[in-house]
Amino acid sequence: MSVSPEDETRLLSTVPADLLINGLWRPAVTGKTFDVEDPATGEVLMSVADAGPEDALAALDAAVAAQGSWAAVPPRERGEILRRAFELVTERAADFALLMTLEMGKPLAQAHSEVAYAAEFLRWFSEEAVRTFGRYSVAPEGTSRLLVTKKPVGPCLLITPWNFPLAMATRKIAPAVAAGCTMVLKPANLTPLTSQLFAALMQEAGLPAGVLNVVPTSTAGATTGPLVTDPRLRKISFTGSTEVGRRLLANASETVLRTSMELGGNAPFVVFDDADVDAAVAGAMIAKMRNMGEACTAANRFIVHETIANEFTEKFAAQMFALSPGRGTDEHSTMGPLIDAKSREKIHQLVTDAVADGAAAVTGGAVVEGPGYFYQPTILTGVTESARILSEEIFGPVAPIITFATEDEAVRLANNTEYGLAAYVFTADFNRGLRMGERLETGMLGLNTGAISNAAAPFGGVKQSGLGREGGLEGIQEYLYTQYIGIPDPHLG
Ligand code: NAP
Repeated sequence: MSVSPEDETRLLSTVPADLLINGLWRPAVTGKTFDVEDPATGEVLMSVADAGPEDALAALDAAVAAQGSWAAVPPRERGEILRRAFELVTERAADFALLMTLEMGKPLAQAHSEVAYAAEFLRWFSEEAVRTFGRYSVAPEGTSRLLVTKKPVGPCLLITPWNFPLAMATRKIAPAVAAGCTMVLKPANLTPLTSQLFAALMQEAGLPAGVLNVVPTSTAGATTGPLVTDPRLRKISFTGSTEVGRRLLANASETVLRTSMELGGNAPFVVFDDADVDAAVAGAMIAKMRNMGEACTAANRFIVHETIANEFTEKFAAQMFALSPGRGTDEHSTMGPLIDAKSREKIHQLVTDAVADGAAAVTGGAVVEGPGYFYQPTILTGVTESARILSEEIFGPVAPIITFATEDEAVRLANNTEYGLAAYVFTADFNRGLRMGERLETGMLGLNTGAISNAAAPFGGVKQSGLGREGGLEGIQEYLYTQYIGIPDPHLG
């Protein structure tokens, strides 16, 4: 069903345009605002308050003030707020999906999938809130007892990227709420509207004032800088580029701030000669083209056995060619625009450099002219091992293909990167799949699947893809610290 301009206007009129500080929506102290664009048209959707350092500090004040009472709320109550939020997001899935399509560009069907994925973090952590167990044990020498408990780390700064506006927010907010932490959320300036609408929903779900504060800003570094070095802040959870992550880690060292870092990726997609080629192509379309390739888990390098490379390339190219770029609200569109002109220019430069180095575009390879930031779905073959496109995160609809002859060579090529977030392996040999799991330096592996994200799984990377895990049993631990209390042997007292 297509969306009318009236539907869009009505939805945008429900999105708060101010900052959320201590339960109240208010403008920035300076009165400044910034515009949020539709990347499919380049037109302004709406303007939101532009927080500065003074606003961010007010948000931290509110989080610090609320921390004590929030940590004292029983875990079951915290879980029930998250459960209500899950139900409200699910009820309003159409609104959240449309809002993400408008500000980020993904096709509506993909936006609906993101809403479902994002909502799962609310449900999962509503259940985890009551399972932050400690332990009681007899010390080895028998003369004392060890009591171990888990406590909320305290006020957190959560920084999210633009590519999954709702899921990246719930993946941090839900475990923080479950653990009993208060927080300041700084959404990406390209897509703050979804977080704004979600924060209003959290108020409706019963989250007390000051627990979640939201500060959209056009000056990320200057606005959040004073928080990162403020000793009252106890944790930063960041999802974004490795470049910014490195800078935040350096700043966080000043107060020995606890950090979770979900950073960039350069996922290898390895197809062995015994793989079901049609299944590998279907997996490739998901791993490469979900979100127009703008995903940290996106397959970035296709490493295909030389005996099936032609068949794989032809079938993959046919599916890429069949994609229909268009505004995400158009029901015929199967691929949206890129997020902005800068991102598209960077992607085109990577393609141009690879072609200058001898690669050939089997399909695509060019900018789509007209309004919006569209780029042709592209497959490159004959890419040289030293090409920049194999070492940098593409973050777009471009698939470079290289070939290999032996398993050792596939492993060497796959591990030849500073990143280690996700990897994909297609093979009919289960033992080989497990062996690849052992040999690949990656936080996550899709074995005969191109879709790995799941709220119940630990999401995160190794090497320069980050520190810590989100989701799964591990996710809530990022927001808890362990306290040990020594007790004398009760038989002696
Ligand atoms: P980015 O430029 O690093 O920005 C991420 C967030 O950090 C945004 O909110 C941004 O604010 C903020 N930021 C930028 N500079 C900052 C600074 N000096 N201090 C504090 N905050 C700062 O990344 P992006 O372009 O939005 O997102 C794409 C990147 O995120 C890719 O590298 C992708 O792989 C990664 N990512 C990783 C995961 C994962 O789970 N590992 C998931 C999704 C995305 P502004 O928007 O205002 O610049």
